[in-house]
Amino acid sequence: MSDYDVIIIGGGPGGYVAAIRCAQLGLKTACIDERVNEQGAPSLGGVCLNVGCIPSKALLDSSHYYHRARHDFANHGIQIGDVSIDVTTMMQRKQQVVETLTGGIALLFSKHGIDWLKGHGCLVGEHRVRIDTGIESERREISADNIIIASGSSVVELEMAPFDGERIVDSTGVLAFTDVPPRLGVIGGGVIGLELGSVWSRLGSRTTILARGETFLPQVDRQIAQAMLRNLPDSDLHLHLGARVRSVRKTSKQITLSWENAEGEHKLQVDRLLVAVGRRPNSADIGAEAVGLQVDGRGFIDVDAECRTNLPDVFAIGDVVRGPMLAHKASAEGVAVAERIAGQQPQVNYATIPSVIYSWPEVAWVGQNAEQLQADGIAFNTGVFPFAANGRAHAAGDTPGMVKILSDARSDMILGVHIYGAHASELIAEAVLAMEFSASAEDLARTIHAHPTLAEALHEAALAVDGASLHI
Ligand code: NAD
Repeated sequence: MSDYDVIIIGGGPGGYVAAIRCAQLGLKTACIDERVNEQGAPSLGGVCLNVGCIPSKALLDSSHYYHRARHDFANHGIQIGDVSIDVTTMMQRKQQVVETLTGGIALLFSKHGIDWLKGHGCLVGEHRVRIDTGIESERREISADNIIIASGSSVVELEMAPFDGERIVDSTGVLAFTDVPPRLGVIGGGVIGLELGSVWSRLGSRTTILARGETFLPQVDRQIAQAMLRNLPDSDLHLHLGARVRSVRKTSKQITLSWENAEGEHKLQVDRLLVAVGRRPNSADIGAEAVGLQVDGRGFIDVDAECRTNLPDVFAIGDVVRGPMLAHKASAEGVAVAERIAGQQPQVNYATIPSVIYSWPEVAWVGQNAEQLQADGIAFNTGVFPFAANGRAHAAGDTPGMVKILSDARSDMILGVHIYGAHASELIAEAVLAMEFSASAEDLARTIHAHPTLAEALHEAALAVDGASLHI
């Protein structure tokens, strides 16, 4: 008999959620995780809670308030004199948020009777996993009927700009600066570059993003991306597209980047440098080769639509398998796999996974964009409504942006919703639900929305699909 019904390797949003769902379903569950926090204490929650989504949002909120206080309060008649930022307090608050949430998961584990095993987990044979704490005498093997690999992903390092933890940093290091660097450089114009570049630019860093691609955020609907680009000059972020970094030279005084674009060669001098050029799956040291677990050329564990690997009773979920590297996608897979192990037949709807970029204003979308539909030859109708025509947006002073709804030309079924504007990350939930229930644009248009709310912009965009928008 095995020690456990399920062993999960990795305690991030994929693994810890899978563990809770397994326990809820009556399965004897263990979750192995090797992460330790800044104080050297074991900490659940993976990258997302410890050094990713949560701390970055804490800093995005702090820096947003600071920016608002400096630039917008006077418009509301609020006079506050000189505003300054105390980075130490801001960082302590961020850390408090992280500790509250990671501690919360530890509590959930004990409440559900889940064994939290600290150390590195590695497959060693059929149904067998080794746990390694780094101390020889503590190394041990345990067994389970089912194994879920949720080992996540790690940042990609550039050979020309190795991380030093202080001045050339990754997405973790940039969350731990102890002061505001006068000049910040960012290599990579993706989600992390934009979000974390925004934090420091709002706090006063002259922030320059060098983005390799010629197209700004290629995954985003073009109309939305163009609107974002138009607003960037207001945000203190300086973006160069098509920028190829040739060398990075660090001296005691500064970091000099040599880069070129279609216009020629340039130099950028900065005090600190964030490298955010993507993440890679953590599949190198989980024993894949030893047990014959199939991994593709880029390091993703091969799985089918149900997250089954080529090995019987071994599943893999989250960043270490195909699909977007998003916490909520990992959690959805974790729940589904737990239920599958318990004999149920759940399905993850990959077509309705929302994406969010926590810039300001925010960007959020679900489903297909106009360019994808055109490429697929699908006829569609478009409804666009600007926040500039929304009452609540005016009241709040948040008028930039728009909602864009794309619906099937024949059936009117919603195929995609794209939002650029304040609180887009919250507004997108309605669109996800609508698509989950195969709603038509008319369904949304006939749904009564509270007034005055930003959500009315969704309502109006749905009306606009049929040329019936009321306020424009
Ligand atoms: P990304 O893939 O979003 O962007 C990386 C960018 O770096 C790309 O535009 C790429 O062209 C560029 N790049 C790659 N190599 C380069 C090089 N040598 N020089 C210059 N540019 C180069 O990656 P990221 O921003 O590092 O984020 C990593 C992952 O984490 C992504 O999958 C992202 O979706 C996820 N993430 C999501 C969120 C969110 O959902 N809000 C937030 C943070 C991270």
